[in-house]
Amino acid sequence: MKKILSFTILIFASMSTLAAAIKDSPHAVKTLQIYKTIIEIPTVAGRGKVPEMAAYLAKEFSDVGFKNEDIQILPTGETAALIVRYQGNGSADKKPILLLGHMDVVEAFDKDWQRPPFTLTQDDKYFYGRGTIDNKLGIAMLSATFIRLKKEGFIPNRDIFIVFSGDEETAMVTTKMLANARPELANAEYALNSDAGGGDLDKDGKAITYLVQAAEKTYVSFELTLRNKGGHSSRPRPDNAIYELSTALLNIRDYHFPVMWSDMTREFFKVSGTQLSGELGKAMTAFAADPTNKKASDRLEKESSYVGTTRTTCVTTMLKAGHAENALPQSATATVNCRIFPGISVEDVKQSLQKVVNNDAIEFVTLGLPVESPISELRDDVRAAVKKAVHARYPNVQIIAYMESGGTDGMHFRKAGIPTWALASVFMNPDEMFAHGLNERLPIKTFYDGLDHWSIILKDLTAN
Ligand SMILES: [Zn+2]
Repeated sequence: MKKILSFTILIFASMSTLAAAIKDSPHAVKTLQIYKTIIEIPTVAGRGKVPEMAAYLAKEFSDVGFKNEDIQILPTGETAALIVRYQGNGSADKKPILLLGHMDVVEAFDKDWQRPPFTLTQDDKYFYGRGTIDNKLGIAMLSATFIRLKKEGFIPNRDIFIVFSGDEETAMVTTKMLANARPELANAEYALNSDAGGGDLDKDGKAITYLVQAAEKTYVSFELTLRNKGGHSSRPRPDNAIYELSTALLNIRDYHFPVMWSDMTREFFKVSGTQLSGELGKAMTAFAADPTNKKASDRLEKESSYVGTTRTTCVTTMLKAGHAENALPQSATATVNCRIFPGISVEDVKQSLQKVVNNDAIEFVTLGLPVESPISELRDDVRAAVKKAVHARYPNVQIIAYMESGGTDGMHFRKAGIPTWALASVFMNPDEMFAHGLNERLPIKTFYDGLDHWSIILKDLTAN
């Protein structure tokens, strides 16, 4: 196992390349302190640690003068949510803005990681630890920004709320409560999420684009089951649960959901097309100009990175069948996972699949409680604020809204009627992204470069 130097030694060794003024500023020191402290609280589902993290953050807010009545910890089962109100003077006469993040993280085991997952470690290029990206960076950035603005005496022209959920990675019970059952939040004009979005760098560290997550596809899985009376395997018959289900699944493989688009996805392809050379770039540009161009949409469908932005997709992901090697199967079950384009209902997709499988004997069960959420078309004032923050670091980088395959708190807020855009402070090469996986890490440069991201945005949107 690689020897890991202590955090303190390493921090000085590697920071020498950064301007001392940046890393020593009170805001940088505070942000790093919060980041380190919360990464070291293992807020994994089942360990009951989220309330401890919420209490730590609550004290940080109260220490800089947030009133106790403006800081609420909302215990929910073994986890908790945290709401902090930054009181505005009301001069804008506008509804509040919400800032979203989640305090929980995906499980990580010491034995699997090259470094201890719940200790913030670093080398000369990266911070390592569970949550260094997802989403403890966002929590640290938003919290430290509130603390910084409060210390500066900044008074916004409307209320701003920090809204941190405690089980985004699992059941989203706290998210649903925050999005649907808190009157002070229900009134919000929109929400800004720290848990997605961000800039893409190429392999040489050159900024390509900044992506604002403005929509999420609906995530749903169906279980398809075919039953059969079975029998002895020495007496095979044409009717066979495995063969029949397999035929149905091949029909799903060969089915193409209709091409779909919105203003947002067209803009996404228009901008991405100008950045990518070659025939793929051309297909993007052609699709943006005319989404009914079949040649263009067929080309994009071949790219696993882009197929989801052009249509609903469904794919078989799991299979179980039979009960003995010498018996005809009495049942066969497949799991089909779908990512549905906003505007199409789960029921519509289920009916399409039922037609496609062309076998009435197949039983369909919808798993879980899928959340259908609308697209939040990016507002000009929010786009301008993001642009200001991004251009302070990377001038001329284009801001593009995009649709994600689904999974953040944002979908519940969008569903509740609160437009939501995710705009994290991160700029990195997508190949460096290990969120949810082993050895999650964040380039140290993007941590320090992103320190002003949220305060620029908030001041732009709420200064008097
Ligand atoms: Zn996340």
